[in-house]
Amino acid sequence: MDELDTDRDGRRALLALVRRYGDGYRVHLTLGIALTVFTVAVSQVMPYILGVAIDALFTGTQQYSIRFLPDAWIPAERTGQFWFTLGLIVVLSTAALVFGTTADYLWGNFAQHMQHEVRVDAYEAAQERELAFYDDTQTGEVMSVLNNDVNKLENFFTQIVSMGIRVLVMTAGISAFMLWIHPQLASVALLVLPVLFGVTRLFERRVSPKYEEKRSRVGKLNGRLENNVGGIQTIKSYNTENEERDRVQDSSADYRDIAWSAFLERVGLIGSISGLTSLGYAVTFLVGGYWLLFQPPLFFTAPLSVGTLVTFLLYSNRFQFPMYQFAGVLDGYQNARAAAARVVTLLEGDSDIRDAPDADDLAVPEGRVEYDDVTFSYDGADEPALTDVSFEAEPGSFVGLVGPTGAGKSTTMKLLPRLYEVTEGAVRIDGQDVSDVTLRSLRNRVGYVSQEPYLFTGTVVENIAYGKEASHEEVVAAAKSAGAHEFVTELDDGYETEVGERGVKLSGGQKQRVALARALLKDPEILVLDEATSHVDNETEAVIQERLVDLTADRTTFAIAHRLSTIRDADTILVFDDGEIVERGSHEELLAADGLYANLWRVQVGDVEELPDSFLDRAQRRMQAET
Ligand code: ADP
Repeated sequence: MDELDTDRDGRRALLALVRRYGDGYRVHLTLGIALTVFTVAVSQVMPYILGVAIDALFTGTQQYSIRFLPDAWIPAERTGQFWFTLGLIVVLSTAALVFGTTADYLWGNFAQHMQHEVRVDAYEAAQERELAFYDDTQTGEVMSVLNNDVNKLENFFTQIVSMGIRVLVMTAGISAFMLWIHPQLASVALLVLPVLFGVTRLFERRVSPKYEEKRSRVGKLNGRLENNVGGIQTIKSYNTENEERDRVQDSSADYRDIAWSAFLERVGLIGSISGLTSLGYAVTFLVGGYWLLFQPPLFFTAPLSVGTLVTFLLYSNRFQFPMYQFAGVLDGYQNARAAAARVVTLLEGDSDIRDAPDADDLAVPEGRVEYDDVTFSYDGADEPALTDVSFEAEPGSFVGLVGPTGAGKSTTMKLLPRLYEVTEGAVRIDGQDVSDVTLRSLRNRVGYVSQEPYLFTGTVVENIAYGKEASHEEVVAAAKSAGAHEFVTELDDGYETEVGERGVKLSGGQKQRVALARALLKDPEILVLDEATSHVDNETEAVIQERLVDLTADRTTFAIAHRLSTIRDADTILVFDDGEIVERGSHEELLAADGLYANLWRVQVGDVEELPDSFLDRAQRRMQAET
């Protein structure tokens, strides 16, 4: 399931965004709309003035009179009227230019600020989402919303909205002018409008789902691209370039198909609009020409002058431009609707894991950890990953978790800092349910070092001091405890060495030690090591092991270990199998019990002959199931 594919109403989403982000820009928006309207209105007066001038100056059939200006302003002489006309043209053009530019500035200013705010908010919302959201959603898709969809919104507000207003005002203005000047001829010239309206409604209905699909497919394509570029090493070492190229090709073709189909709709719309306006133009010429040459046609009665016909023809011609733009506006609007739906889905997506309304900060006076009948299922999984897991870790104790792969060890520990939420039961720290305390305090007190630690682009010191202000001495002390100091000082720039993207310039073991140092610097009361030393060599492990005594002295520590030697000295060892704890006790006790743990131990010390057949059978079955 993809949570970003949404059936949210795009129009409402777009409105919600305008309401939320337009609030601080009310003056911008009002002035922007007013100036846009004004600009268009001013430039629409031009053909009218030209018509008047033709009739009064050149054919001499009419009096020089402009409806919205007092006659007293108009010069009596023809030459004076000529200069007066020129003056009007200059003043109106200048006004249109100044108002138009100011309006563009205001729209652009709003759009740029808005896209910035939307992007930052959407990122923050994405960051708040629980981990389970990312299990189901590709990071590339989230990025596509943050980039492509937000950019579409920006484009909408920079260009489409003002264009839309222009089109509206122009159409309404031209229609009003025509009706005012010559209502009878206007009824002919404006005949195309209702037809145009019908055509655009049809377009809207057809193209809207296509744009939604287009946004979704561009997200999927992005997801695929991100995945592949991220996995380039694997692609190369498995020679799967051709297969991956094909997969990208398929995703890209999916996108192209829907984009093409939407494009064709658009071409159809533009064609229909152009055709209809040209038809309108021709009909106006035909009717007007007949009127002038012979008599008023059909049921028309009013007289018609050449100037008026020219004005009408100029206006009809002018219709073509806004109508052509109208196609772009509709297109941009549909695009923005689909983008807004996705952005709002991300913005308003609620994290399932958040602070309870009355959550208090976690207090850890002792560090007792308690799992009480915990059952947990991943979203969409058929079977629970954990069933009735119960145990108690004494303050300051060292607890080892062992068991075959997939038994549920990591899942168990991920519930402690509430990376996932228990399905049933409770996880408590010093008596406080982790669901009842603030996430911030919880994650501050629980340090978590995962098997594949994530290093950020930056220096070693930045990675160790991640999320915490620390002096250089503190960083070095943490690095020493984590067994990292020795190798770090041997790097070219020591602690200032750049680790590369995700720490690619360090080995797996080095990354783990940096991550361990990062967790230790936080000095949490509870520490979880999820196979945190699986990549380090035996020698380093011995060093860490030795220090682990210090590290774990005054904090409750959980260590998931594949290498059993790591947790041999643990106070308690929990043995997991198939989502349940099947054995528990100290190393000696478990060996004496001669169960699963004893068998796992035999495997590791190379005592394979002692293994019972049932264990080998199961191991084999599990391996078959995994492949
Ligand atoms: P272990 O740490 O013991 O190797 P895990 O706790 O990682 O085992 O996994 C327990 C079970 O949960 C496995 O069956 C695994 O496939 C499943 N699982 C782990 N992570 C996820 C996830 N993010 N989404 C769905 N299933 C998961």
